[in-house]
Amino acid sequence: MQTIDNYNFKGKKAIVRVDFNVPLNESLEVTDDSRIKAALPTINKITGSGGSAILMSHLGRPKEGPEEKFSLKHVVPVLSGLLGRTVKFAPDCIGAATLEMKKSLQPGEVLLLENLRFYKEEEKGDKEFAGRLAEGADVYVNDAFGTAHRAHASTTIVAEFFPGKSMFGYLIVSELACMDRILHESEKPFTAVMGGAKVSDKILIIKNLMDLCDNLIIGGGMTYTFIRAMGGKTGASLCEEDKLELARELMEKAKSGGVNLLLPVDNVVADKFDNAASTHITAVDEVPEGWMGLDIGPDTIKLFSETIAGSKTILWNGPMGVFEMENFQEGTRRIAEAIATATSKGAFSLVGGGDSVAAVNKYKLHDRVSYVSTGGGAMLEYIEGKELPGIKAIRG
Ligand code: AMP
Repeated sequence: MQTIDNYNFKGKKAIVRVDFNVPLNESLEVTDDSRIKAALPTINKITGSGGSAILMSHLGRPKEGPEEKFSLKHVVPVLSGLLGRTVKFAPDCIGAATLEMKKSLQPGEVLLLENLRFYKEEEKGDKEFAGRLAEGADVYVNDAFGTAHRAHASTTIVAEFFPGKSMFGYLIVSELACMDRILHESEKPFTAVMGGAKVSDKILIIKNLMDLCDNLIIGGGMTYTFIRAMGGKTGASLCEEDKLELARELMEKAKSGGVNLLLPVDNVVADKFDNAASTHITAVDEVPEGWMGLDIGPDTIKLFSETIAGSKTILWNGPMGVFEMENFQEGTRRIAEAIATATSKGAFSLVGGGDSVAAVNKYKLHDRVSYVSTGGGAMLEYIEGKELPGIKAIRG
């Protein structure tokens, strides 16, 4: 199979799908360049081996055609600075003028195309549009893991125009290696830590993980659907009444499969959904009427941390409480720390999903876990066992 390492880029033009969907402030400056940094190894590999790179990406969710606030031109100064070279910019991702710019690109040069989503054909996976993106390029490299679960023109369809000459960039290669390690060769004990708001969002991943993990830790808002399913009192906590049967099924599946399912034993309850709410600790199944559980309690932190400390493989998705609020972040912070400590003692840890990534960044622990996935939705779907169109288009 053609890979970025065995392809000879000399004199070739590579069209590269990157994920430059970065946050911009009101002055349209990039406020977090981590996604741009993540694409640098691939870009440098291409230009460093005598090729030129034509970069394409989406930015934000433009509704109807071009919009200044979603222009990728705002990324150019940051990318130029990080690469240490001039980056050319094409004010349209397709069209005659853009094709001319592609054609005149010299070895070592980098050209960034304007936002793909200024055309609705991108998200529709339009073949003709994909063909126009492919024009003027010799080889296709996909390095946008965050959109690999979408069958868009630039992430999937465009590969059809490069038979035998489509490959993953370094970012996707490392994302896949980490997820495959979790899915196929995890060292035991394997602990999955699942949090966040709703069970309904995580059913498929929980089901798939049950076949793989030894310990399944459940925290966050999801907790209460399980607790209610067992007849506990959950007060005004988040609870999906229509998912009680499903929660019972999941608990049954854990039992029959020999998976150690860990639910919180205590929690921090609040009298309103507010950082300034009155709070106290209760047993997780004794939440008073009108009160809501917004974080895991101290006994739970201890219980979960012990299990994490004894693990060799850890997957974390979703916060343990409403960590955005100062008074309900302790559980998430302590679990993040427990994962970092286990990692320093030799465990392999993969953190993914928007909110858990935000949490490791908030507690400055991103360098203390093994890998932080750049694609929340894509990572979840991969671990659910789904085939991602962007991956299939290249891997077959
Ligand atoms: P998700 O996107 O499903 O991973 O959910 C993340 C969100 O879940 C975060 O915004 C948290 O504030 C929220 N969350 C975590 N624990 C709770 C809880 N006990 N009650 C309500 N929301 C929660």
